[in-house]
Amino acid sequence: MENRDGFIWLDGHWLPWRDAKVHVLSHTLHYGYGCFEGIRAYATPRGPAIFRLEEHLRRLTDSAHILAIDLPWSRAELAQVCREAVSRNGLDSAYIRPLVFLGPEKVGVDPAGAQTHVMVAAWPWGAYLGGDALEQGIRVRISSYARHHPNVQMCRAKAISTYSNSILAVREARRDGYDEALLLDTEGYVAEGSGENLFLVRDGELLEPETTSALDGITRRSIHVLAREAGLALRAKRITRDEVYCADEVFLTGTAAEVTPVVEVDRRSIGTGQPGPVTRLLQQRYFACVRGEDGAHADWLTPAAT
Ligand code: PMP
Repeated sequence: MENRDGFIWLDGHWLPWRDAKVHVLSHTLHYGYGCFEGIRAYATPRGPAIFRLEEHLRRLTDSAHILAIDLPWSRAELAQVCREAVSRNGLDSAYIRPLVFLGPEKVGVDPAGAQTHVMVAAWPWGAYLGGDALEQGIRVRISSYARHHPNVQMCRAKAISTYSNSILAVREARRDGYDEALLLDTEGYVAEGSGENLFLVRDGELLEPETTSALDGITRRSIHVLAREAGLALRAKRITRDEVYCADEVFLTGTAAEVTPVVEVDRRSIGTGQPGPVTRLLQQRYFACVRGEDGAHADWLTPAAT
């Protein structure tokens, strides 16, 4: 990733991709204290456009606030940087990664005195869970690792440090031959995937876990709107792992994973073992929105800088 052409924005400057480096004593490198976002831009009939940029930047500033990190840039300034990151790198579609991290002025758990840095990079990124995942669905295992308790890691923040838990879970799942992990909370109820929120369909109703120990996903919020428009009943409740096994359909949502059907959990097939009709419908509606083919949600798209 580090050896490519293009530009990365770091603390107000556009640097050649290969020169965007940090010192090895950077505080965040040692303790994982910081936050980030994952945003996608899609090719649309009106040129590349960023999906729900405002909402992602709102979550970034909320994350920094939760971590008590003062951001030196406003949301409007960061929005402009994200728009430029797509165009300066000549991208039609992109994954955009803003990252807030602390510098090397201070090593020691308390970061007081360490400077806040912000970087934004953008690059092309296809289907996150593999080429066939969106069409054919994926196989998931319940993780042996619990998701965060809200008083251990505050789950409204997209904090860097929460991802050690995700990494342990996804590595365990892949080592065991699955595509993705599904994590339960510390009480044993379903929380989320390693990088996605989860939905079930049962008897025509859409169900999702409460987000107490899961990230409040922006794709998930878009699915709420699309589900209501499709006349689907939607309810958030505590969900047990056997309810997942017995669902008619299961799917995961996330900026990277988009709307990915789940066809198997812990070697039990879900419904028919194929992506189901509700998943397909919402997936099609989601892609129509992100690709700018749905005029009703044009406000979800921000054009890249020209
Ligand atoms: N949960 C976790 C742990 C994630 O990393 C992500 C990806 N950001 C999500 C859920 C989905 O969030 P979003 O739809 O905002 O990308």
